[in-house]
Amino acid sequence: MTTILTQSQNDTGALRRGACPSLATPMQTGDGLLVRLRPVAAALGAHDLLCLADLAREHGNGLIEITARGNLQLRGLTEASVPRLAAGLAAAGIVPQRGVAIEIPPLAGIDPSEIADATPVAEALREAIAAASLVLAPKLAVVVDGGGVLGLADMVADIRLDAVAVGGTVAWRLSVRGNRQTAKVVALLSPDTVMDGAMTAVAALAAIGPAARGRDLDASSLAARLGAVSQPVVLLVSSAHPLGAHPVGGETVLGIAPAYGQMRAERLAGLVTDLSACGAFEFRLAPHRTLLVRGLSGKGMASAQACADRAGFWSRDDAPGRSVSICAGAAGCASAHFDTHAAADAVVAQAGALLDGSVDVHISGCPKGCAHPGAAAVTLCGTVAGVGLVLGGRASDTPVASLPPDDLTPAIQRLGTFLRARRLDGETAGSLLDRTAPASLVSAYQGQQ
Ligand code: SF4
Repeated sequence: MTTILTQSQNDTGALRRGACPSLATPMQTGDGLLVRLRPVAAALGAHDLLCLADLAREHGNGLIEITARGNLQLRGLTEASVPRLAAGLAAAGIVPQRGVAIEIPPLAGIDPSEIADATPVAEALREAIAAASLVLAPKLAVVVDGGGVLGLADMVADIRLDAVAVGGTVAWRLSVRGNRQTAKVVALLSPDTVMDGAMTAVAALAAIGPAARGRDLDASSLAARLGAVSQPVVLLVSSAHPLGAHPVGGETVLGIAPAYGQMRAERLAGLVTDLSACGAFEFRLAPHRTLLVRGLSGKGMASAQACADRAGFWSRDDAPGRSVSICAGAAGCASAHFDTHAAADAVVAQAGALLDGSVDVHISGCPKGCAHPGAAAVTLCGTVAGVGLVLGGRASDTPVASLPPDDLTPAIQRLGTFLRARRLDGETAGSLLDRTAPASLVSAYQGQQ
């Protein structure tokens, strides 16, 4: 039976936190039901994407999103059309993943520079969790990162396994709550003990309760329970953004992204057809709302980037909009207090030169913060009091200033002008923000200068 999750219209606290929309549990949004899915197969063919585009049009409103973690979202479905979507996916041989979300690098298994292929470890862990029948938080996030060109160093997870090269062999560093840099290290595990170690952490979460997350785990007591000897290891603390061209072994993989993660089905279908004509033979969903394209080379690569540009997709790693995360906003969600897309366009138009990758901007229709659960350098968040400005925080944090939605575009313009004037030659936007007093930003936002 299909269970429908509903969103409250006004109150963040009343929203169904911890719920993840899926084929079995679609979520009610402002433009109908939303289904989130990730195909089991990492490698998708053009035919798969064309089928998905057809299904999105036939059973939804034709809007398709790629999320920050590389999931697909189909919007505008109905109670009657969700089962038909499920049947269409099955007929097309597209099998959605089920169970706990376990993220692996999008090029796992085909990237010669990776330390280890995360795929078998992730599959074994998924099977072990399913076999244990544990009740876990619906939004529990596990990362198994074998490294490589597009490793998942910056992806936050409740439980992480990071591959480490130790004296010619591979070990797995188990850590909890954070990204590769911030997570609390539990133990360094051999391939023989990695599953027991990871399942010890998973079972500890289940023992705490059905809502327990990585923040509830004590890394020291887990380490003691595992009897593991911790030893310092060196790991890269950042990974490349998937957008743009990446040399991977003997090929070049192109990362493209629909503007702000959202596209019309017909745009996707047209682009996939064009990319196939350029030589593309495989597509992979990737973090940061990206689709990776394989099979392009030389002239085909240049043609593919031109096709992506024409279709309104970003294909270069310096695309300013890549630093901006937005949710559906007023166009697609009844909880939204303003048009997030228009605000994002204004940010790119007025402050594009400041979007150099050193700061992230989050534009959220309401304090739930669907598009960017963590803190961002700058957040514009819709509330009943107006569009709030949050500095270095989450959408749910208290804004330092608020404005009516109609005043937002001029406010963005003022902020852009103010920051551009202060910026030193060669200075990153991150450094500029760090040395700028919040009170000055508030004054610019509110037009009090
Ligand atoms: S964050 Fe955006 S998509 Fe999520 S509930 Fe609020 S308005 Fe809707």
